[in-house]
Amino acid sequence: MSIKSVVLICGGGNGAHCLAGLASLKSNIESRVLTLYSDEAERWTAKLESGLLITVRNDDGSESLIQTKPSMVTNVPKKAASGAHYIFIVVPAFAHTNYLDAINPYMGKNTVIVGLPGQAGFEFECVDLLGNKAKHCTIVTFESLPWACRLIEFGKNVEILGIKDTLGASVLKDSTVHPPIMYGKWSQWNGKPLSEKPLFYQGIDERQAELLSGVSDECLATAKAIKKKVPGVDMSDVIHVFDWYLKHYSSHITNKSNLMMVMRTNKAYDGLVHPMKAVEPGKYVPDFTNRYIREDVSMGIVPIKGIAELAGISTPYLDEVITWCQGKLNKEFLVGNKLTGKDLKDTRAPQKYGYNKLEDLFTGNYSI
Ligand code: NAD
Repeated sequence: MSIKSVVLICGGGNGAHCLAGLASLKSNIESRVLTLYSDEAERWTAKLESGLLITVRNDDGSESLIQTKPSMVTNVPKKAASGAHYIFIVVPAFAHTNYLDAINPYMGKNTVIVGLPGQAGFEFECVDLLGNKAKHCTIVTFESLPWACRLIEFGKNVEILGIKDTLGASVLKDSTVHPPIMYGKWSQWNGKPLSEKPLFYQGIDERQAELLSGVSDECLATAKAIKKKVPGVDMSDVIHVFDWYLKHYSSHITNKSNLMMVMRTNKAYDGLVHPMKAVEPGKYVPDFTNRYIREDVSMGIVPIKGIAELAGISTPYLDEVITWCQGKLNKEFLVGNKLTGKDLKDTRAPQKYGYNKLEDLFTGNYSI
């Protein structure tokens, strides 16, 4: 008799559909879905019997169709988490805490918890919420989803637009692209509605590319400082955003001459536009409540700024982006160039969890 691994996928969005569907294809995996959001569990369960179709857009323009069926979709944490060996949390970062709180009582020891993606500070959040139990679990955080994907019909059909060639799991991440792109695009905006939604990645200009590159250089400088202060730590996954695109999306990119062109010609980004809201039919303004700012600042670039601060690295690009974004969020994280704002409690900066020295991040010593 073969022993099945129980894989729990938390979430009911694009990525959760892909992972639940793909995991179900393995005969040695029982793939369960827990979604706590609205009536998603009920709606997905109603369609479960007829199966889930994954449409994969291949690089050569062809499509592959994968018919699959997860074992269970539920909104009951006990039913979902009991006996799970691997737990993947595949939701926007603001929902991580909900799921960790819900499954914590039912998780066994030696569970592998995966943030897919984790967003910066996922490990700190897990250790903080799971307490002692975290010591007996493995916590993994991925820098992104392995696919660019979107739902065609909830519970029925999900589309994979592009598959990344590789995916890194690291503490310091380069998936810090959304806030600099938003800042670069909208900080000079005249406030007038636009008649179409601008392309997000494929529309970037030289200024946005410079901001992305500057933030990335600051991440690299931080990684270098960490390596110097904490010998033996492997920071090799921290690479420049330009190299990251070449590594992860190589086969999708037609012009590899510089960062701007790499993003403008990445086929996996076809059709992806800025988060906008309609103010009247055919007239759009940017949506600053979207998670590209709301989530990717407090759980993205602010934790990275926090680690840079502990490493003693100055970060003018990060500071400039955070300062503009916190204004849009009506929050105060940064005061001048220091993370001492009154709203730091709403972030995943290591300082929030009581990590006050760089070395403490690696020894687990912290004091609140
Ligand atoms: P998504 O937008 O499809 O997620 C929406 C789902 O999140 C909902 O269906 C619901 O299940 C859950 N959710 C939303 N609000 C909730 C709430 N208040 N409480 C509990 N659950 C709630 O997300 P996705 O596209 O699967 O992406 C997941 C993460 O991966 C995001 O952080 C995204 O930025 C990132 N990402 C996505 C892609 C992509 O192509 N879809 C690519 C790279 C990275």
